Amino acid sequence: MPAHKASLSENASCGLTTVRGSASRVVLLGRQGAGKGTQAERLAAHFDVPRISTGDMFRAGADTGADLNGDLSRSMKAGELMPDVVVVEMVRARLSHTDAIETGFVMEGFPRNVAQAEALDSMLAPDGLDVAVELVVPSDLVRMRLASRRVCVDCGANYSVAQPPRSGWTCDVCGGQVVSRQDDNQAAIDRRLALYEEQSAPLIEWYRRTGRLAAVDGTGNPDTVSQNLLATVTDHHARAQPNVGGLNQGGKS
Ligand code: ADP
Repeated sequence: MPAHKASLSENASCGLTTVRGSASRVVLLGRQGAGKGTQAERLAAHFDVPRISTGDMFRAGADTGADLNGDLSRSMKAGELMPDVVVVEMVRARLSHTDAIETGFVMEGFPRNVAQAEALDSMLAPDGLDVAVELVVPSDLVRMRLASRRVCVDCGANYSVAQPPRSGWTCDVCGGQVVSRQDDNQAAIDRRLALYEEQSAPLIEWYRRTGRLAAVDGTGNPDTVSQNLLATVTDHHARAQPNVGGLNQGGKS
């Protein structure tokens, strides 16, 4: 992990202070609907590093004409995974950008099987990943969250049936239309969660065995989860870099 001097400033996102210039290489794991997207955005803002989401990258590809014959959209709508070789090359290209090289990243959606995790390790050699954090939320709760989730088609802001935008289904943040995600239909939810148990649960065990796994309870309110997640990641940084650990301690407010 490159050593940068950190400086503090305000981050409006969620009560976490931004620590500018603190390098961080973090992966968030957990079931669909565990809150990885929301928490990755907050943590990335805190460390002032890019948030890398393979799901967002595929959705952007499907929206921008890269998906000429519609195969990508159809697969995603059915809850199927993309081939490892495609995902790995996409991530390799993203990690070669200066921001990720110089400051690190918070990643979610990748890796989601052991082969992808091994590919990530080789991309990050010799420094490697700081920590993989599992957001732990049981499957009956994520099923409820996914079925009631609504997202803004323009900025991706998250809502739910229980917490809709202030005015109709119009995004509070950008005025975009707020809808169900295409893959939040019942059949795709079943398929995605089945693939998670089959491929991603073993990955969590793999990170545990290689000593890089931490777990955070993802069932509480998002601000509490953010604080616990930050404390966990900060603790890992402090233990990995005992001499500069104090620089990362100022993140909680
Ligand atoms: P989910 O809630 O299902 O985890 P994401 O937003 O992370 O959704 O990803 C959306 C879709 O993008 C996935 O269903 C899959 O088709 C594709 N995708 C994203 N990341 C990966 C990955 N690491 N490996 C394979 N497919 C992926």
